[in-house]
Amino acid sequence: MLSLPFFDDAHRQFADRLHAFGAKTLAPALHGAESDPLAAGREAIRLCTAEGLLARLVAEPEPSVREICLIREALAAQSGLADAVFAVQGLGSYPILLAGSATLRARYLPGVARGETIAAFAVTEAEAGSDIGGIQTTARADGADYVLDGTKTLISNAGIADHYVVFARTSEPTEARPRLSAFVVDADNPGLCVADQIPLLAPHPIGNLEFQDCRVPAEQCLGTEGEGLKIALATLDRFRPSVGAAACGLAARALDEALAHVAQRTQFGEPLSSFQATKLALADMRTELDAARLLVFRAAWLADTVDRRTTREASTAKLFATEAAQRIVDRAVQLHGGRGVVKGVAVEQLYREVRALRIYEGTSEIQRLIIAEQMLKEKKAGT
Ligand SMILES: Cc1cc2nc3c(=O)[nH]c(=O)nc-3n(C[C@H](O)[C@H](O)[C@H](O)COP(=O)(O)OP(=O)(O)OC[C@H]3O[C@@H](n4cnc5c(N)ncnc54)[C@H](O)[C@@H]3O)c2cc1C
Repeated sequence: MLSLPFFDDAHRQFADRLHAFGAKTLAPALHGAESDPLAAGREAIRLCTAEGLLARLVAEPEPSVREICLIREALAAQSGLADAVFAVQGLGSYPILLAGSATLRARYLPGVARGETIAAFAVTEAEAGSDIGGIQTTARADGADYVLDGTKTLISNAGIADHYVVFARTSEPTEARPRLSAFVVDADNPGLCVADQIPLLAPHPIGNLEFQDCRVPAEQCLGTEGEGLKIALATLDRFRPSVGAAACGLAARALDEALAHVAQRTQFGEPLSSFQATKLALADMRTELDAARLLVFRAAWLADTVDRRTTREASTAKLFATEAAQRIVDRAVQLHGGRGVVKGVAVEQLYREVRALRIYEGTSEIQRLIIAEQMLKEKKAGT
């Protein structure tokens, strides 16, 4: 698949290196991550840094979406946790690259690239999930500072992050649609408290944040006041194809596991692979995986090569790849029979890891709304 013209030889060599790194270094080091997601998250960052992967997230002038996709596919195939921590490092630093002043870029990005600091991206609140406009956290201008108050939930890397890109409303409460602004808040700010870790289906450092009289200098605002929504959406456009890539990594691993299992498991005196039903399942899995990867590669290639927002293609890739991966992993579990749900078996872990991808960075329903709205816009504009 990488021989397609979406990629060049450097990408192909990079992908080979990533697969070797994933299998030989990452997987053994993160074995047992379930018991301590925070420690495993830190270890994943350390290993990715040593491999030079984090620097690619903040490469100037623009990180390569194709490289990020290749990295996430390789990481996810070995460790959903490593993939998630890597991705959030990107989400929590890209807004700074995109809209931060030269001072903010110099202060935060080199540490991210060297793996010395961990980033996070804080949008979601109890009452504002799919509807970002519902954000209640406020940022009130006060002299040379802004003062943040509110709570965030389901924030990945909470508890291990050194800084958070936080989205808060800077409009008056009377305004119907809030204007959002984005701020970089250091984890050691006395007004910020990481309230609790949230245990998930699959291990993942994630928690709640509380902001109380959290004072940040006005220079920590990204772009100008009121540009927060634009920054959040531009960040998601760039990262959504890579959620699809991670889904492909999980699905490809599940397919490999299924192929190995059906070749060696015998029932009715025959290997499972000899049954037509098995072959049909394998063929459907492969077809869906190929289609998913093509959509992901298209979105990543466009993001890297065209001078426009690629919102529809990014959402299409995320929607299809995450939904397809769920079906592929589920089939892999089914082909394993009872062994497929035994704790510690690879497909059991993949089954738990794949689920969240259809939810974070916009649920599948929200991706469909985005795709439809983009099509209607394109139709109206005659493009
Ligand atoms: C593993 C994980 C990591 C995450 N990491 C982060 C992070 O780092 N930072 C962060 O800010 N957030 C993070 N999130 C939060 C995530 O972005 C939200 O969970 C997601 O946007 C959905 O919001 P919600 O959970 O409030 O669901 P809701 O918005 O309440 O949605 C519930 C259901 O209603 C549907 N729905 C909602 N609105 C509509 C509509 N208009 N039309 C049709 N259906 C609709 C949804 O599709 C969904 O099925 C993470 C979540 C997970 C699971």
